[in-house]
Amino acid sequence: MAIHKKFNRGRTFLRRMGIGFVAAVLLNTGAQNGFAADVNIGTGSTAGVYYQVGRAICRIVNRDTETHGINCQSSPTDGSIFNLNGIRAGELQFAVAQSDWQFHATQGTGPFAASGPDPELRALFSVHGEPFTVVARADSGIKELDDLKGARVNLGNPGSGQRATMEVVMQAKGWTVSDFLLAEHLPASQQSLALCHDRVQAMVYTVGHPNPSVSKAIGLCNALLVKVSGPEIDRLVQEHNYYVYTTIPGGIYHDNPDPIETFGVKATVVSSSRVDAKIVYLVVKTLFDGLDEFREMHPAWGGLTPESMVRDGLSAPLHEGALSYFSEAGLR
Ligand code: GLU
Repeated sequence: MAIHKKFNRGRTFLRRMGIGFVAAVLLNTGAQNGFAADVNIGTGSTAGVYYQVGRAICRIVNRDTETHGINCQSSPTDGSIFNLNGIRAGELQFAVAQSDWQFHATQGTGPFAASGPDPELRALFSVHGEPFTVVARADSGIKELDDLKGARVNLGNPGSGQRATMEVVMQAKGWTVSDFLLAEHLPASQQSLALCHDRVQAMVYTVGHPNPSVSKAIGLCNALLVKVSGPEIDRLVQEHNYYVYTTIPGGIYHDNPDPIETFGVKATVVSSSRVDAKIVYLVVKTLFDGLDEFREMHPAWGGLTPESMVRDGLSAPLHEGALSYFSEAGLR
C-alpha cells in the first residue's frame, strides 16, 4: 500500500514535470513565433470514429507544436449534442458534430430550441460520412426498420448524435419509446455488449465505418446490418438537405458482403467565433497540409479531398481563421 502510494506520488510528480516541461518548451522557444495555446477537441465515444478524428488531428498538429505553438488535446465525450453545447458554453474550442445537429444548433431548433440559435457557432470542415446504422441480433428476426417496433432497442445515450437522430426517425414513424418492448439509453461503448448479452436485440448508431462498436456486435455476436428505408425516410431525405441516401459499404464487416441501404449525414468539425482566428488558421492549415497522412489514419477518410471537406455538410458560417486558410489555398 505504502509502496503504491509512493509510486503514484512519483508518477504524479513526473506527470507534473512533463506538463511543466511542455509549457517551458512553448515559452522558451516562443514556439518560434512567440505564441502558445492549448486547444481541446470534443469527440465522442472511444467506440466510434469521432474519437479517432480528434486523435488524428492532434497527432498531426502536435508534431509541429514547436513551430506554431499550439498544443492539441482531444477528449472522449457523449457526442454531437454534448459537443455543440460545450462549444457554446466555451468549454470546448473545437468539436466534432453531425451535420444535421450543426444545422440545428445554428438555427436554435430541435434539441437546441430551448437555448436558441448559437450565433457564435462556426464551421471548419467536414470529414467522413455517417450512415444511420441499425444492427440487430440474427435471432431477433429484425430485418427492416419497421421490425424495431415492439423490440428491445438501444436508442443511444442522451447527448449523442445517434440518439437525437433516432428521435427524428421515431417522430417520422410516429413512434414513442413505449412502442419498444425495452428502450435503452446506453452509450456506444456499452451497446455491443448489451446486444451480445441479448439485453437489447438492436442498436442504432450514426457513425463512420468501420468502427469498433459495430464490428464487435457483428464479429462476436452474430448480428446483422439492417436496411433503413421506407416512405418516412424518403420524406426526411427530400425535406432536409443535411440528409442523403447512402449505403454502408459491403465487405467491411464479417459476413456482410453487400452494401446496406440507409440515409446519413456528415461528420463535421466546428468551433466558435470566440476562438482566436490565428489558432483556427494554424490548426486548419496544419491539418490540410498533412491531409495525405490524415487520410491514411482511418479507412473512412480515404476518399476525402480538400474540396469536399470545405463544401459538404457545413451550415454554420465558416470560421474566419478557416476562411483565411481556404482563400489562401484557393479552396474558397
Ligand atoms: N455521430 C455520433 C454522435 O454524434 C458519434 C459517432 C462517432 O463517435 O464516431 O454522437
